[in-house]
Amino acid sequence: MNTTRRALLAAGASLALARPALAQAAPKVVVIGGGFGGATAARALHRGGLDVTLVEVNPTYVACPFSNEVIAGLQPMAAQRFGYEGLARAGIRVVHAAATGIDAGARRVTLADGTTFPYDRLVLSPGIDLRFDAIPGYDEAAAARMPHAWKAGEQTLLLARQIEAMPEGGTVVLAVPGNPYRCPPGPYERASLIAHVLKTRKPRAKLILLDAKDTFSKQRLFQSAWATLYPEQIEYVPLAEGGQVSAVEPDAMIVRTDFAEYKADVACIIPPQRAGRIAIVAGVADRSGWCPIDPVTFESRLVPGLHVIGDAAIAGAMPKSAFSANAQAKVCAAAVIDLLAGRAPETPKLINTCYSLVAPGYGISIAGVYHPAGGVLADVEGAGGISPVDAPRSLREQEALYAADWYRTITRQVFG
Ligand SMILES: Cc1cc2nc3c(=O)[nH]c(=O)nc-3n(C[C@H](O)[C@H](O)[C@H](O)COP(=O)(O)OP(=O)(O)OC[C@H]3O[C@@H](n4cnc5c(N)ncnc54)[C@H](O)[C@@H]3O)c2cc1C
Repeated sequence: MNTTRRALLAAGASLALARPALAQAAPKVVVIGGGFGGATAARALHRGGLDVTLVEVNPTYVACPFSNEVIAGLQPMAAQRFGYEGLARAGIRVVHAAATGIDAGARRVTLADGTTFPYDRLVLSPGIDLRFDAIPGYDEAAAARMPHAWKAGEQTLLLARQIEAMPEGGTVVLAVPGNPYRCPPGPYERASLIAHVLKTRKPRAKLILLDAKDTFSKQRLFQSAWATLYPEQIEYVPLAEGGQVSAVEPDAMIVRTDFAEYKADVACIIPPQRAGRIAIVAGVADRSGWCPIDPVTFESRLVPGLHVIGDAAIAGAMPKSAFSANAQAKVCAAAVIDLLAGRAPETPKLINTCYSLVAPGYGISIAGVYHPAGGVLADVEGAGGISPVDAPRSLREQEALYAADWYRTITRQVFG
């Protein structure tokens, strides 16, 4: 990260020195998507002296990290919302519109109203789209009864209201997709915090966690915490025991697997996902639905001149997280600045840390360090790690505080 930062500062300094020559024609970069990846990239590119346009469809960003806490009534929804005034104040041109077309040959982005923006380099950070074709019975209309809440906003509030209104003794069914998907530990944090609500307010109610895989992030930490905190609340059904959802019936509130049928009072269905639609339109997604990239520059392997960061990218061992998107944005911006200045980008190292809250004042984390190896971002052996399984409660309390500090710091850094 330090080398990247040095590269960015060095690139910014040399662009600043070259300013008289560039003054009339600073290279143009368009960034699509103003989430954790795109907004960070826009800031770094702007600091590097480039002419940056950030295209973001929504006037307000609603952050997913800590949205599980909103569902459990531990965090107000207001704390999830961020405007773009901070980016505009920093001097970035922010355009609120949907990008609908990309002409990679002409190097031009088209917006929904027909406006076009030329670019020298394009950075895409569109996040995810939910695959409403993946589970029979689960479409956008079904999500109004069986929320996914995997894009924060109305869906988060709907799920919170449903849990609140659920009768004592009721059943919550939470369905988790196979890899890859946004925020690997997120469903298990959600299960934990819903279980906390049940334990404290509806002690005879239970949560059935249907998983389309057999192993998951921070598994030992989650499961040992569940055994202590929520033995009566959480029933975990992995793939091997029939955890994969095969169909849903939203009117009857039924969730089916190949082996069983579950009647739910509340059903949270997190479906499989793919890169945001504009990545598909741009031709940077492969048949997996995700976007392969060069691990040094984040340039698309499929379309030159386009860079993909954040959840939409196939980033090797690096998980889809806000922390990752933020780190990738800085590396990508440094590479774009170097490439536009005719310099070879430095080889980066990237860090990710994911905190999860298992209960109020009970946090756990996983950290990793990644570097380009074999054409992908691979784990740096021996770096990173997870919270100790047998840690005292005081460490869990500290990690919960670190999690809250991380959220405050990153949202401030990204949105101002
Ligand atoms: C419940 C939950 C909990 C999570 N907790 C954590 C956590 O604790 N820590 C962590 O690091 N991560 C967490 N995450 C993951 C994190 O939210 C994502 O990894 C992160 O948001 C990815 O950033 P991104 O920039 O790729 O996409 P996003 O943040 O989704 O941003 C994409 C943006 O692009 C815009 N957009 C898309 N298409 C277009 C278009 N065509 N035109 C214009 N704008 C467009 C969208 O409106 C959106 O604002 C969590 C996720 C969930 C669901």
